[in-house]
Amino acid sequence: DPRIHGIQTKIRVVPDFPKQGIMFQDITTLLLDPKAFKDTIDLFVERYKGKNISVVAGIEARGFIFGPPIALAIGAKFVPLRKPKKLPGKVISEEYILEYGRDCLEMHVGAVEAGERALVVDDLIATGGTLCAAMNLLERVGAEVVECACVIELPDLKGRERLNGKPLYVLVESH
Ligand code: IMP
Repeated sequence: DPRIHGIQTKIRVVPDFPKQGIMFQDITTLLLDPKAFKDTIDLFVERYKGKNISVVAGIEARGFIFGPPIALAIGAKFVPLRKPKKLPGKVISEEYILEYGRDCLEMHVGAVEAGERALVVDDLIATGGTLCAAMNLLERVGAEVVECACVIELPDLKGRERLNGKPLYVLVESH
């Protein structure tokens, strides 16, 4: 698809952010370009419309940028998966291991019901730990995760292998 190249060129790579040796993929430059941003959303919408997806779950923070426009366009609800102690209602939590230490995602109880068909959205998959925790939250309440969708994959980190065979759709690979 010719739109993919345009999207790729708008993602800025920032060396040594947030620390030495990390090549940070920065999607804020993609958001500055209305055509590339729209193409990004359109590609996901074209893939997921008509697939009976009832919930788009977006991962804090950049999944909150891409998830809602996809949800609105396919007629699904949007559910934020947040870092600990941000959601005011009753939550379920899922801890996951990071390179240094651990992190946690939370989801409101009652936001997603058993049997719902879910799409999980984030900006980027690295090791896959974050997406894995997100899928666990949805599956714990009986939802079916149809697919995970990210703008960027870092394939060298083999995050895809941590998704227990769940399909992952990405627009751009970065090595
Ligand atoms: P993973 O759990 O190792 O797959 O890391 C993915 C999470 O870290 C996502 O929520 C991303 O937003 C974030 N992340 C890791 N590396 C980058 C990057 O280079 N740019 C933007 N986000 C990143």
